[in-house]
Amino acid sequence: MVSLLEHIRQLESRDNQARGDYVLDMLSSMGIAPLLQERRWPAIRNIIADLAPAGADRKRFFCAHYDTAKGSPGANDNASGVAVLLGLCQRFKETGAAVRVVFFDREEGASTKPVLRMGLLGSLYYIWKNSLKDITAIYNLEFCGQGDTMVIWPVDRSGDTAAVRGAERAAARLAIPWQRLDMPWALQSSDHLPFRMAGFKEAISLSMLPGDGMSLLKERLNGVTAAGLMTGRRPELPEPFSVFHTAEDTSARLGEEPLQMMLALVLALAGD
Ligand SMILES: [Zn+2]
Repeated sequence: MVSLLEHIRQLESRDNQARGDYVLDMLSSMGIAPLLQERRWPAIRNIIADLAPAGADRKRFFCAHYDTAKGSPGANDNASGVAVLLGLCQRFKETGAAVRVVFFDREEGASTKPVLRMGLLGSLYYIWKNSLKDITAIYNLEFCGQGDTMVIWPVDRSGDTAAVRGAERAAARLAIPWQRLDMPWALQSSDHLPFRMAGFKEAISLSMLPGDGMSLLKERLNGVTAAGLMTGRRPELPEPFSVFHTAEDTSARLGEEPLQMMLALVLALAGD
């Protein structure tokens, strides 16, 4: 079995077409026949793997975007999330679990400026085409390759939902430290956002982040305003936020251990 970090090494620096092809190759080598959800303009190719045995009605939904921002190898953002999902597929390829796994295209926008980035097209397209009525919770993976703490985001004061509590229970059971983080959408959003906007509350993102950088991160995020971001200014944030979308987002910064922690968490959530 390949290590999860090896998936990232295979994915990094490839263009988005080749990244999607790699996911398809891996699924086919596991004997999983995914559903492709494609559109010509804007060009979108979502990859959907249903692991649920026939007759399973209520499903957990795990997703990660496989595309990368222009000019970035996209190792932590987001080959790391893809690697964990491939690990999940590998684990349940034979037994199945009431799980749908989606590899989203076009999360990244044409512009790297926050606010104006015009991404999230793959998940928007999915919502347009699919019903969410058989989905219990959506867990979106981003930044899974660095750090020792599972971070659940964005969770504000009113964000205490069943999906959030489920993730916390899984972390507690596995003795993995966790934190909630309220991330301003204008600075960093991800594929959980279109689901929330469509009225589906149980959609959150999970990341692994260095625990010792969390208080600095929270302090800096407190000073972020949408107006400030409109001017193109970005706050100075600790890693991995200081390197994502840049040429520095490489596998050399990442480790197998955080990837395995996130895999254990999603396996716990999938079997919950
Ligand atoms: Zn991302």
